Amino acid sequence: MKYVIVTGGVISGLGKGITASSLGRLLIGAGYKVTAIKIDPYLNCDAGTMNPIQHGEVFVLDDGGEADLDLGNYERFLDINMNRNHNITTGKVYRAVLDKERRGDYLGKTVQIIPHITDEIRQWIKRVSKEAGADICIVEVGGTVGDIESMPFLEAARELHREVGHGNLLFLHTTLIPIVGAVGEQKTKPTQHSVMELRRVGIQPDMIVGRCSVEMEEDIREKIAMFCDVPKEAVISAPDAKSIYEVPLTLERQGALEYALKHLGLEKKQKDMKEWREFVSRILEPKNEVSIAVVGKYTHLHDSYLSIIESFRHAGAAQDAKVSIVWIEAEDLEQDKKKAWDALKQVDGVLIPGGFGSRGTEGKMIAIKHARENKIPLLGICYGFQLATVEFCRNVLGWKDANTTENDPKTKHPVVFILPEQKGVKDMGGTMRLGLYPVNIANGTKAHEIYGKEKIEERHRHRYEINPKFIAQIEKAGIKYTGRSPDRKRMEILELKGHPYFIASQFHPEFKSRPGKPSPLFAGLVKAALERKKAGKS
Ligand code: GLN
Repeated sequence: MKYVIVTGGVISGLGKGITASSLGRLLIGAGYKVTAIKIDPYLNCDAGTMNPIQHGEVFVLDDGGEADLDLGNYERFLDINMNRNHNITTGKVYRAVLDKERRGDYLGKTVQIIPHITDEIRQWIKRVSKEAGADICIVEVGGTVGDIESMPFLEAARELHREVGHGNLLFLHTTLIPIVGAVGEQKTKPTQHSVMELRRVGIQPDMIVGRCSVEMEEDIREKIAMFCDVPKEAVISAPDAKSIYEVPLTLERQGALEYALKHLGLEKKQKDMKEWREFVSRILEPKNEVSIAVVGKYTHLHDSYLSIIESFRHAGAAQDAKVSIVWIEAEDLEQDKKKAWDALKQVDGVLIPGGFGSRGTEGKMIAIKHARENKIPLLGICYGFQLATVEFCRNVLGWKDANTTENDPKTKHPVVFILPEQKGVKDMGGTMRLGLYPVNIANGTKAHEIYGKEKIEERHRHRYEINPKFIAQIEKAGIKYTGRSPDRKRMEILELKGHPYFIASQFHPEFKSRPGKPSPLFAGLVKAALERKKAGKS
């Protein structure tokens, strides 16, 4: 097993995950099986209980693990499916160690951060990479070097290096090259300091990736090589990119792959970045353009909807179209703000994302009603699926008080209600209906046309569902539940008869969309939006 340990210096938010997954993509292109582990040094056991406004989207894995959004980047770049063990947090590590302590596994020893916590981390990394059957495991240490909470992880990385040997582990450090002053001079001092910080914990980087708004200058590269004691070819420039999918090609151009392979004692088994290159050129030079409104409640932090954004990139590339996302805060529609309405009226399609709680739900339903009545293509996801049902019951069936019991526990028309198995669940962490579940699609439906098959599997994250009691009446009025769980008890996909594209799903299709393999529901939305635009309707 070979390892690439990725650390970050100077500031957070440098796109460490993108750099790491880009190198991973190149290693796959060279013929290796690559997996990834993301370390988050916070105390939460997982990202499931974290507010998307603070931390970005919660990414859901096949096994129901609720993970940091970087896991989504790894899955998309490496085209692999990971499980919850690929996201290590301080909370998880301490929990494992404390469980062992309680069981008496430490045989009377004093349990300490070093060696017990660091051992746990090291064993965890080795176990997960082995289970994944990978040749190379990329381990990204979240946070910035110097943070107190990432110390045990860096110490574990140092120990791992010592254990497996220098030729089997590559330390990649990502830093910031700021540009200051009127002449726009690129500065290396923050990089030097962050490397010093790394050395203090016993780690000497083998490769340095410098993030900068523009290309790194040659003398800056030399300076970093000199002061940070790495060969010049191991200093890689990562300028701002138009698309994150360009980054593997940026690294490739500078020989990052060759350097990493040489360090790890590996040969290039094949050269296969052709498909990726084609995908990137379709992303960068699209012939068409459509605009899609995303009506949500976390629209100020786009990372809250990261997988949705990426799904649009994949769906757009497949149809040679740039998808311009128009962000609309649902509450602005409730307050009848002109700007929000103007935006909604101009788009070629609408997406209603998932969410929790009552804030913004009325606004989302205003957008759903607008799309339904004006035949604007619409895709609803999870809460969007539930609210499409509520809106229909209120405005078509005339059940004015129809609601989800999440917002109105006393409604006479609880058309969306709590999953039976959720009653009595008190813990909030990891207790929703999570992960991959099968869905059967009825023949001769739009959903069937889009997916091209009857049996699919998609990822879920919800506590509420459509109340079966009302289904017969809803279906009579025009919404059909065309995707259901195999026992037919759970509603999974709905579509509206007589509308060009009005589809919603209880599951989250955005978590399985990949470059070159767009999610069928997103592809369908973009296609319908393009058709609407071409017909001159928007
Ligand atoms: N709040 C809804 C539920 O728990 C929808 C969840 C979601 O959109 N992810 O069922």
